[in-house]
Amino acid sequence: MASSIPSLHPHTKLTLAGQHTDGAYKSVSLPIYQTAIFRFDDTNGKPQYDYSRSGNPTRAALETTIAELEGGAGAVCVASGMAAVATVLALYDVDAHIVCSHDCYGGTERLLTWYQRQGKLDVTYVDLTDPLNLALALRPETKAVWVETPSNPLLRIIDLQKVGELAKDAGIDLIVDNTFLSPLLQRPIDFGADFVVHSTTKYLNGHSDVVGGVVIAKTKEGHERAHFAANATGATAAPFDSWLVLRGLKTLPVRLRQHEENAHTVARYLDNHDLVSQVFYPGLESHPGHELAKRQQAGFGGMVSFEVVGDAAAVRTLLTSTRVFTLAESLGGVESLIEQPATMSHASMRAEAREEAGITRNVIRLSVGIEHIDDLIADLEQALENARCTSKRTLATVTPAHV
Ligand SMILES: *Cc1c(COP(=O)(O)O)cnc(C)c1O
Repeated sequence: MASSIPSLHPHTKLTLAGQHTDGAYKSVSLPIYQTAIFRFDDTNGKPQYDYSRSGNPTRAALETTIAELEGGAGAVCVASGMAAVATVLALYDVDAHIVCSHDCYGGTERLLTWYQRQGKLDVTYVDLTDPLNLALALRPETKAVWVETPSNPLLRIIDLQKVGELAKDAGIDLIVDNTFLSPLLQRPIDFGADFVVHSTTKYLNGHSDVVGGVVIAKTKEGHERAHFAANATGATAAPFDSWLVLRGLKTLPVRLRQHEENAHTVARYLDNHDLVSQVFYPGLESHPGHELAKRQQAGFGGMVSFEVVGDAAAVRTLLTSTRVFTLAESLGGVESLIEQPATMSHASMRAEAREEAGITRNVIRLSVGIEHIDDLIADLEQALENARCTSKRTLATVTPAHV
């Protein structure tokens, strides 16, 4: 397989991913092995594949590609990002204690809170931008620390090197949700991560047409355990979805380059706008995590959040008057999206947890796509001016009552 030539650049390997695997017809595009079962030749031994929940050649090609990109020993592709989160959490015994970054993905917080209520796992949420908070939260029964960096939606940066060292000293696993950057921009295993998870729904597939997830393990043993869990629970990904993600991966390097270039320009534009009180983008020098992001990431990514000035009506006007940015959850697709985390992507989070993480209703999250930058800026400009008009109208109706 050309993609297994060790000297190739990762970008080239991605372009060639899955090629030259079809021995029967030598198709250049990897076939979709749309089959549940595989024939046994005899009764004295299993064939390489027997049943697609346990293994499927299309899914295997995707798993090999992602594991190599992340620098892991193996990967397991599952039906969604949350299935990836659940697959890793399934590896810990009842009564295990997990330390989790306090502004993790809303769905992760919901799952952890549910497990905690059922008495399956105990969880402590801490602000891991100060890694010492991990040390303070450790208990004898702590088994893992769950990290998301950059965090969602405020793009705080957590020091993977420091957290990795603390986790190693404590003998606990480091698990990193790497969805926001992809392995091309950050490789947590290089910093000691034992497991990495992704929602492949986002940048890895990149076209907003698949829901998927993946668990990458640092060690062969970790990979076997993750595969056991995904096969036992039936979380594994379908062949067609795997094929779509593999196709998406082939353009990941060029997509990411454009996402990041556009995001940087959007962040600088918002930073100079009088209706914007704060911009959260690690690529801006004013971002508190800028230097750290430069050290541990190969790029700043395509996500930009900001805090807009104005009342609820003005925020609503902003969100509903963009024409290029689509009002939708999710991220990482080629098209630009705008959303309000407090009522959309992070609505499943407990209100106190949301407040603690600083996710107010004036925080807006953008997934900056790969459209022409002039259209993106013009769209934000007209939406912000609309929001300004709404604010003025509200002021005009409120002020007389107060004088
Ligand atoms: C979307 C997302 C998930 C969950 O993934 P699904 O594919 O929606 O199940 C987990 N973590 C992060 C950071 C995400 O953005």
